[in-house]
Amino acid sequence: MADVAGSRVKRQVATKARGKARAYIALGANLGDPPAQLQAALRSLRSAPALEVIAVSQFYRTPPLGPPGQPDYCNAVCVVDTALEPETLLDLLQGIENAAGRKRDGERWGPRLLDLDLLHMEGRVSETPRLTLPHPQLQRRAFVLVPLAQVAPELAIPGLGPIATLAAAVDRSGVVPWH
Ligand code: ATP
Ligand code: CA
Ligand code: CA
Repeated sequence: MADVAGSRVKRQVATKARGKARAYIALGANLGDPPAQLQAALRSLRSAPALEVIAVSQFYRTPPLGPPGQPDYCNAVCVVDTALEPETLLDLLQGIENAAGRKRDGERWGPRLLDLDLLHMEGRVSETPRLTLPHPQLQRRAFVLVPLAQVAPELAIPGLGPIATLAAAVDRSGVVPWH
């Protein structure tokens, strides 16, 4: 009897360890056909067996960050549930970027066909060379906060506070619906 109870406890612990976490992904593109590339990335996320897409924001037109003379960005945020570890989810996102033809030429914030950033993963923080969680620029970026506030206004980021409050504190004037 004790063994049965013991194995039940072990099973519960194992289930918890493999439990799903909610993750928030930023999508961006400013080369090629930006909304088509975001749609293609969303199709890839929807067809990935390891995650379930829960919500997708509107697409927004936003002014580019970084070197001048770049086209505007198309940005969005999607919410997923996944049992993947954060770095494995990052592998998946980078695989989708690569399949979209993303070039990594070393120019910081240069124009790109597709950028997928992991913004936050519930209950997880990371400070490895490959992955910082929550994303370190999250609270400064209207092009992330506006779509994130649309799909997860109640979300509170540890150490930063509620998304709706963060979104209200940045200049959102350049972030408009993509038509
Ligand atoms: P930013 O992260 O400021 O938006 P970026 O998206 O232009 O800049 P990239 O060139 O796409 O930066 O990525 C550089 C590296 O950032 C990636 O190789 C990845 O390992 C690392 N990285 C660290 N934290 C994250 C994160 N939360 N999401 C995505 N990539 C991350
Ligand atoms: Ca980025
Ligand atoms: Ca990136």
